[in-house]
Amino acid sequence: MALAGDLQKVSEKFMGISVEKGGPDLSLLSDPKVRDALSALMNESRLAARWGGLSPRTRQAHQAILRAFLTKGAPPATSEFSAETLADLSARDLVHVRDDEIALAYPFSARPTDFQVRLGGVTVHAICAVDALGTAAMAGTAAEVTCTCPICRTGVSINIASDGLAVEHASRPEARVWTGVKDVGACAAESQCKTMLLFCAPEHLEAWRRSQPSSARGFDLSLAEAVQLGAAIFRPFIQAPGDRVAS
Ligand SMILES: [Zn+2]
Repeated sequence: MALAGDLQKVSEKFMGISVEKGGPDLSLLSDPKVRDALSALMNESRLAARWGGLSPRTRQAHQAILRAFLTKGAPPATSEFSAETLADLSARDLVHVRDDEIALAYPFSARPTDFQVRLGGVTVHAICAVDALGTAAMAGTAAEVTCTCPICRTGVSINIASDGLAVEHASRPEARVWTGVKDVGACAAESQCKTMLLFCAPEHLEAWRRSQPSSARGFDLSLAEAVQLGAAIFRPFIQAPGDRVAS
């Protein structure tokens, strides 16, 4: 696709971190609005802090942690990794350890959240709506995502196709995903992710926005757009082209 190819070139120049190194895969984005949302969420310094100079050993550990969440729905023990590796992953805001347990590894949380993903019989919790919707692309398998509307607590279920890139069915096709843009600080889960929410309907997104400061910035996405965004961010975590060739 010519448009996607052009976007990818722009992103490589602008973002500086290639897909092979974990940077977002803009070839998955056909929609300029979603590209704008990605650029707002993942600026150059954040991408460099995450992926710049990542050693193969640390990358391997990162992927082992993600695969444990995918196969068991829970994180591996911290004892499987060196303290140095975990400190590196934490400084990069990729994995965070609390009370000697891996508490989160984007897109996953060890604790229950409002964002559930079922893949191949395993249930795992995601940190936010975009994380949940990007998990299928990262795993390279179909998934059923269930997100709870923060206004009415309705569970919205979304079936994602096996390539992780399309919505096959949604219990509320009109649902909206708000992707808030905030200063991330040392941990996105404590900042930006708290405003990455799925609402059962446009009216409930509007109700929530009225409760937020008028200065709050963000993007109002359809389910299909939010799946694209999540896939572009998370597919390279495991499914980077280089890894696919190596395996
Ligand atoms: Zn609702």
